[in-house]
Amino acid sequence: MPPDRPLWIFDMDGTLTEAVHDFGWIRSELGLAADAPILDSIASASQERRTAMNRRLHEIELELAAQARPAAGIHEFLALLKQAGHSLAILTRNKHEIALLTLQKAGLAEFFESEAIVDREMAPPKPDPEGIRFHLNRLGLNPGQAFMVGDYRYDLEAGRAAGAGTIYMDPTGAFPFRELADICARDFLELMEH
Ligand SMILES: [Mg+2]
Repeated sequence: MPPDRPLWIFDMDGTLTEAVHDFGWIRSELGLAADAPILDSIASASQERRTAMNRRLHEIELELAAQARPAAGIHEFLALLKQAGHSLAILTRNKHEIALLTLQKAGLAEFFESEAIVDREMAPPKPDPEGIRFHLNRLGLNPGQAFMVGDYRYDLEAGRAAGAGTIYMDPTGAFPFRELADICARDFLELMEH
């Protein structure tokens, strides 16, 4: 196991679950340019367009949540952390109800209390570190007592900005954002051996 820290904060999509989000397709469904940031683009659209985009995004998110599958080794990994008395938390750019549905479909709901899920409406989205601070304050911990685990640069940047340890999951083993990570692993089986 990696070094012991009492709080483990996980990104959800592509970290706890297998990556199914095709962000290029989502952008095209929303009528956005290929490189446009999805949430920021919606926030800055006209009210009428924003409403339509939010509706379509919600449909897409429900479809994706219904297909959620657990990442390799995650069930065993979370069970070990929980047995050892660690706090498990989620920081996601998703919505709360979508996060709960995704966890249910992936068979991981038993590991996370509802209040241990910080969604995009509770804190500014990653890479902003505020969601990590929310979890730390909730539990009365300092950043050095937490890991942020994720599959994308925003997760790792948020972790670094908060002063937490960062664990980078990339099943391809390419790790393009490795300079932001304290630990890199292809999957949770590999992380358990770390
Ligand atoms: Mg992710």
